[in-house]
Formats: sequence, structure tokens, C-alpha cells
Amino acid sequence: MRYSRFFLPTLKEVPAEAEIASHKFMLRAGMIRKLASGLYTYLPFGLRAIRKVEEIVRQEMNRAGGIELLMPMVQPAELWKESGRWDKYGKELLRFKDRHGRDFCLGPTHEEVITDLIRKHVRSYRDLPLNLYQIQTKFRDEIRPRFGIMRAREFIMKDAYSFSSTEESLDEIYGAMYKAYCNIFERCGLDFRPVEADTGTIGGHASHEFMVLADTGEDDIACCTSCSYAANTELAQVKPKGDTEPFVPGKEELRKVETPGKKSVEDVTRFLNKKATELVKTLIFLADERPVAALVRGDHDINEIKLAKVLGAERLEMAPSETVEKITGAPVGFAGPKGLPSDVRLVADVSVAHMKDFVAGANEKDAHFVGLNWKRDLDLPEIHDIRVITSEDPCPRCGGVIEIKRGIEVGHIFKLGTKYSEAMGATFLDDKGREQPVIMGCYGIGIGRTVAAAIEQNHDDRGIIFPAPISPFQVIISVINVKNEKMLSVGEDLYGRLLTKGLDVLLDDRNERPGVKFKDSELIGIPVRVTVGKKAVDEGLVEVTDRRTMETKLVAIDEVCSKVEPLLK
Ligand code: ATP
Ligand code: MG
Repeated sequence: MRYSRFFLPTLKEVPAEAEIASHKFMLRAGMIRKLASGLYTYLPFGLRAIRKVEEIVRQEMNRAGGIELLMPMVQPAELWKESGRWDKYGKELLRFKDRHGRDFCLGPTHEEVITDLIRKHVRSYRDLPLNLYQIQTKFRDEIRPRFGIMRAREFIMKDAYSFSSTEESLDEIYGAMYKAYCNIFERCGLDFRPVEADTGTIGGHASHEFMVLADTGEDDIACCTSCSYAANTELAQVKPKGDTEPFVPGKEELRKVETPGKKSVEDVTRFLNKKATELVKTLIFLADERPVAALVRGDHDINEIKLAKVLGAERLEMAPSETVEKITGAPVGFAGPKGLPSDVRLVADVSVAHMKDFVAGANEKDAHFVGLNWKRDLDLPEIHDIRVITSEDPCPRCGGVIEIKRGIEVGHIFKLGTKYSEAMGATFLDDKGREQPVIMGCYGIGIGRTVAAAIEQNHDDRGIIFPAPISPFQVIISVINVKNEKMLSVGEDLYGRLLTKGLDVLLDDRNERPGVKFKDSELIGIPVRVTVGKKAVDEGLVEVTDRRTMETKLVAIDEVCSKVEPLLK
């Protein structure tokens, strides 16, 4: 590609809307442009990176037994009503009517459509297993689209769905997908980790997320420093430590004290000269509309996903302040386990059950209890693991030290079981002629998010440093002065030679100052730059620069190909 005829609008200024490096550089390097919130145009340079990732995904999916198809983005409501998700999916599902007044939605995912296809065509166990995938645009009306194409509303996903007649077959496909995903993200040059993930309310079945490690990630991952354990903190179990000794109440006397205007853990503990570990935080939720008080230690965070599971709740939300007031009889900030109405379900975290002489709200404006003790002053409530793991907790598998890292979820694999096949009647006849629901798995990769995550991990102050396999071009040839015919013809000659080698090459043949060309080439992050300057004309030498290290070597023109190729490994 000739730069002078390409469409690559780079920006000097940092766009105000961009909060993180990948978003900033994707805008500046002319990869994407925003049309409206969460809607982006992939400019030619960005599209090339997207296509490279798609090609890697396609190759590895095919190699792992996947078969490509393409389903419509517009989906009829009937299918979503059959699966029960028309009512459950919420506002992320963009719904609309056609000219006949029929309900449709834009596909955020394709379980319904593919299950409909399978139920019409699969009859016998002999037709199975199948693993079908597509690479296609999805729409989710995300509440907070951000970080460019990292969390967009319209985005490209690879989604695969497997259909098996036995659990063993599902396990096998799941294993093959796990391996394919590792290959894909390795080939994309990413530092990633597969982590155990939440399976939602279906429960029981396996799920892994593939996390690219980055401080700007939106997910927290608990990683063991001793064993291979890694899990999303949404899921990571907390193994009790130290607080398992037999329960003994404390000796402090129970008192109600005034805490005027002190609502937060910090304010209350400072005011009473206590530690956060001595306070019980009481949070009021509505679980399927019913009030629940959840208790965690002052220094811990509630894990709403665990709590919802414990409660068996489909919808769990923090109670609005008016509801809190109605339930506790006090403004937000003074709730506590003692003296709550009996219809409020009390659930305590394991660590709370072992506290003694603790502080908690008194369900009264400007008042807290101190010296509270279970059994002596109030009954022990239900006890469950309902909090978020911390780096002070031991590894739930080996007892080792846990580190909390941040990650970007680029892929997700999930054993669905028979949720959709049962709801939608996708069955097959087994070898004894009995009708059985098909056993499903689903496997997603965010294509655009993978590109963004790669940039998030591979950049410096100057710009992007593309991993070669997903770089829009592998080599950029910068001709310092295109008015110099000899210089330009060396550039043209090298361009031809590198193209013949099968490389993707961008020839910077623009009539621009060298400074502009260098800045642009550093910003857009092509892994290797070949600079054709005066030495090329006089001595037959060009400069080869490694974008990552910015190391430059003088190379004879005839040796360029052999010097460039190792830099692309
Ligand atoms: P998240 O938790 O980040 O919202 P999700 O769990 O809803 O993602 P899945 O339904 O598992 O996502 O979708 C599969 C993959 O699609 C994700 O792993 C991610 O890479 C990608 N993806 C999901 N939502 C978006 C989005 N809004 N923008 C870009 N990519 C997305
Ligand atoms: Mg997910």
C-alpha cells in the first residue's frame, strides 16, 4: 500500500474522550472514528488489524473442528420468548418492530437462532457432535459504552456453539476450544490468563474467561502465586482463615452510642476510634423485590453475584434510599442486624459470624451499637460466603498467597448444558431410540476488544507497538525525500521485494518532512521501519528500526529482507 493513496488520518492531539491508552492511540493512529456513543467506523488501518485477528481466529477454529456459518443480526422476538430471554435480557437488548408490527431485536448473542436451526435439522445422535461458529456484528445497548471499541454497543464477535449427545463429547469440545483460545491469544501476542468464571444462575457447569492482563481492565482476577489457580473475583471462593475457631462471645458491654451524621465505615470507625475490622457493614438489597440485609466486615466488599446465588434470586439490586428508610426506620448509613423487622432476611458473611464486640448500625438515625455479640445480644443469622476475595485471603485451592490483578475479558467459554435445548425443544434420538435434549456449549471472542487489548498491552509514549501477527502492515518503508528520484526508486524497489516475500508493506511515499514521517510511523506502530535516506543513494545502505526497542541498524539494500524477517517473529 502506498501511504500517499491510503486513507490514514492520524491526529496530533490527544482526543479528550479517550481515557485509556488503546482508545487514545486507536483514534490518533487513524484506526477508528466515533459515529455516536458506542458506535464506531473501522477506518482502513484499523480494519486491517481486525481482519488479521479474524483470520487467526478462523484458522484456529477450523483447526479445532469448528465449522463457519453466518446468521442474521436481526432476530424475531418469538425465539427469545421461547427461551424466556425476551423478558429477562433487559435493556441491553435493542428491540424494535417491523412494518407489520412484529417484534424483533438486534442480536446481542445467537443461542436462540442457532438452537432453532439445530432443532430443525438434527434428528439422531449420529448427526452430533457439531460445533458451528460465525464472525459477526453484535449489538448490545450497553449502559456505559467506553474505551472505544473495547466496550462498544456495536462490535464484532466470534461466537461458536457446540451440540453434543453426551457430556463426554461436550467436555472434549470444551477442551478443544480452551486450547484453540490459548493458541489464538498467544498468536495475537497477548499476555493473558484463562480464569475460572461465574456461570450465572444456571450453575454447576464450567466456564472460563480469557483475560488479558492490564491495569485498565474492568475485571478483577484472583491469581495464586503458588499454584495455577486463577478466577474472576466474581466467583473466587473465600476460604476462611483464622476465623474458624469455635465461637466465643466477647466481654464488652452492649451500648447504643450517638454517631451524629456518621454514615460511612470510615467516618464511624474514626469517630468511635475503632478499626474497620471491628465494624459490621449492613447493606439492604431487594432480591426479586424481597428485602434482604447482607452483613460483611467493614473492610470487606460484598459480592453481589455470590449473594444472588445464595438467595436464589434472579434480580438483586441495592435498595433505593426510601426503601432502606422504610425497612430500617433510619436514613441510609445506620442499618444494622439488631432490631430489623422479622420479614427482612439476614445473611452474614462467614467472617462476620466470628466477630465479637463489634460495631453496627442501630437502625436509628445517628446511632450505632458498640460491644455487640452474637448469641448474647442477637441470634446468629444465616452464614454464607458472600464477599469478594482479597489479597489477604489464602488461595482456595492450595492455601498460597493470592494476588489481585486486573484483566480485560477477551474471550469466554461456557458449558451451557441443556438450558436452551430444553426450553426450545432441540432434541435427538439416542442409540436406544430415546428422545434427549442436545447438550450445548458456547464460546465467544471479542474481535475488536482483542485488538484494543493488544494495544493496551503493547504501546509506549510514542504510540502503538503492534505484535507482528496482528499488525495492519508488517513493514513501513519511509522514503526521506520523495523528490529525490533515486531515493524514491530505492524505496520502490524495496517495496516490490518485500511484497514478493509475502509481507504487508506500507510505502511512505508522501511528500512530507522526515519528522512527520517518523512521528507517524512511531504512532501507528508497524513493527519494522526501513528508512531510505541519503545513504541509500550514496552507499547502498538503509536503516532498519525495530519499533519495540527503537534499535536501528544500517543494512545493505540486498540484505533488507533477511534482516526484516527475524524482527517479525
Ligand atoms: P462483559 O462482561 O465485558 O460485558 P460479557 O461477559 O457480557 O462481557 P460475553 O457475552 O461473554 O461478554 O461475550 C463474549 C465476548 O465478546 C467477550 O469476552 C468480549 O470479548 C466481547 N464483548 C462483550 N461485550 C462487548 C462490548 N460491549 N464491546 C466489545 N466487545 C464485547
Ligand atoms: Mg463473559
